[in-house]
Amino acid sequence: MQSEFEGQIVLVTGGSRGIGRAIVERFAVLGARVFFTYHHHEEEARQVASTCGAQALHCSQTDPDTIQATVERLANENGRLDVLINNAGITADMFLLLMPTEDWNRVLDTNLNGAFHWSKAAVRPMLGARRGSIINIASVSGLVGVPGQTNYAASKGALLAFSRSLAAEVGKRGIRVNTVVPGFIETDMTARLPPEIRQRSVERITVGRFGRPEEVASTVVFLASSAASYIVGQTIVVDGGLTATAG
Ligand code: NDP
Repeated sequence: MQSEFEGQIVLVTGGSRGIGRAIVERFAVLGARVFFTYHHHEEEARQVASTCGAQALHCSQTDPDTIQATVERLANENGRLDVLINNAGITADMFLLLMPTEDWNRVLDTNLNGAFHWSKAAVRPMLGARRGSIINIASVSGLVGVPGQTNYAASKGALLAFSRSLAAEVGKRGIRVNTVVPGFIETDMTARLPPEIRQRSVERITVGRFGRPEEVASTVVFLASSAASYIVGQTIVVDGGLTATAG
């Protein structure tokens, strides 16, 4: 059966590893032409590109000019841009009193301002086509307080609010904006957690385990699909029950 994503242009930020990589691979299997960005991990990006036929683009979240030029080029060369996934993100955890200003800015610039630059660039061709889907990857840290993550939580909480307002702004013009909120997912980001924190986190998760990147990717694909055509400005939490139950 032919997939609705056949021939669609999908752009994923931070597709070289983790959740972004799973999203890239899922859309590629469905026949989309997938482009993804990376920053530091060129070898990993090359591997993703060669295994699933996606195209890797070296572009930092903190480089608005290259972001704008990249989207313009993609939209012009392909005549369309159907889906943007704002996935790239970092943590730099530290208690507030010890947090270097540089780490506060770095996290906000990468996670929030980057999503702003990509969305601003992508909305133009999507408005022209009167269709498109933007999916932002936030975090449970944007919903509930986590010690040591004031910078990360601020970036993800703001991304949730950004998504709802953008959805209200462009929804009538055929562009759906939604947010996926992952809980603890097995990636390099959570591999850095000290064993005792990891153990305590698992105990708080209703299903008793961290999630897999593919479990986030399937929610993203659903939101981008026509099966979600009436879902606008919403947040879907993919956290194994972490925030909704008593564990
Ligand atoms: P990883 O650390 O595994 O991967 C992060 C990705 O983002 C990489 O592809 C990396 O590219 C890219 N990236 C980081 N900084 C930049 C930058 N400045 N410019 C361009 N790309 C950049 O993270 P995850 O897969 O775990 O996380 C993906 C998203 O999901 C993030 O937004 C994260 O906040 C969110 N999330 C993750 C959770 C988890 O438990 N893992 C939980 C909740 C949310 P490169 O390696 O090439 O630099």
